[in-house]
Amino acid sequence: MRNDAPVMAFLGISENVSQSVNVDERFSSLNILNLRMEIISFIFPLNLSNFFSLFALYDIEKFDEIKIICKDNNQKQVFSSTINTMISKSENDFLEESDTSIMESFISRNSFWMVIPIQFPQNAIMMEPGKLIFYLRDKNIDYEIGSANCFAARARPLSDDQISALKSDPTAIKHIKFIIGCNKCKEELKVIAGLTKPELSKDEIWVEDLPNNFECKCKNISFNTSYIKNGYQHLINENIFSKKSCTITRQYERKTLRSLLFQYSKTLNQNPKEEIMQKFLEKHTILFHFFSPLRIINKAPILSKYVTDFVILSKNGTLNLIEIEKPDKLITTKKGRRTSDFNHPFDQVRDWLHHFKNHRFTVLDEWGINTKEVTKIKGIVIYGRDHNCKEDDLLKIKSSDFGEIIFYTYDDIANSLTSLIQDFDDI
Ligand SMILES: [Zn+2]
Repeated sequence: MRNDAPVMAFLGISENVSQSVNVDERFSSLNILNLRMEIISFIFPLNLSNFFSLFALYDIEKFDEIKIICKDNNQKQVFSSTINTMISKSENDFLEESDTSIMESFISRNSFWMVIPIQFPQNAIMMEPGKLIFYLRDKNIDYEIGSANCFAARARPLSDDQISALKSDPTAIKHIKFIIGCNKCKEELKVIAGLTKPELSKDEIWVEDLPNNFECKCKNISFNTSYIKNGYQHLINENIFSKKSCTITRQYERKTLRSLLFQYSKTLNQNPKEEIMQKFLEKHTILFHFFSPLRIINKAPILSKYVTDFVILSKNGTLNLIEIEKPDKLITTKKGRRTSDFNHPFDQVRDWLHHFKNHRFTVLDEWGINTKEVTKIKGIVIYGRDHNCKEDDLLKIKSSDFGEIIFYTYDDIANSLTSLIQDFDDI
């Protein structure tokens, strides 16, 4: 090996690094998943503290101390970290100490290349997409040892049917609040993001109202806000904000769900028209949570021939064509036979399914659904009330086979909301 060969190399970035002890306690192994040279994010400024940078270091015995500096492409320091190798020489122990950063590294006595993970500290922020460049500092000279790229992923704004589906998810995010501030002049932005603009306090700012550029008083931080504006809806949709970096308000609490259940039962008991129930379900898509919707389309037409009441694409790829009827229609006659009113929606949905299958590509295209997203198709009939039917008759009907169609009463929908409320603490 040449004398001037670098003693250290940057290997890449990973979010998933853990140390595990082997059977023999003197040995430990490093688990590194998804090692790569780039970070792709929907949002910038990006807090890097979930990431580790990994380095290979040769012949550690030669050094008393190793200093690593990370800068962005504007030569602004992102973080610096000092690995004190003296400790490891004397104690040969797991090292967890740094004046400038959080660092977890394990250094052995071996005179070979070894891998050292360094976690980005909490205050390591990448303001905009760009390069992260790593340097080894030796006797006040910085030697570049590698770099990684931060890219911005472009998110499309959510469509109405995606938003409806999101509102049916009991764990969905309603609002998030995060603070971006300068640690020198202390100027900060308290940003609120969500699907709808909430009431704000004086010092808060709605995400869409952010100025295009933010620069703090002392000019220490400056960034383009378009990455926040373009990315936040995607992160809300994916439910991937970390609690570490922001405050999250969920769409639902037990209390809101209870009051919805009350409203739903009250509405049903007033024998509402079908249109009233249509509007109620459009507004409160959480009642469809048991479908695990990815998209909910109201009144989706099947070409120009039929109009469904709802089409729900479930996360598992099932496409549900839903017909709802006026709730007080009877399921059975006094003799326990199915009424003709009851048979009607099933015939209807069968026609839908038939027509849909004949024109699958065209219809899906009109609905804006990719044909690859659909793995199965089902018809759904929501009809009638449990108490309008004798218990035995109802049991017999609910357990009968309707082929590709599933039958729910309006009470089944209520029951599913009830069990959601019961389980809600666990979410
Ligand atoms: Zn400042």
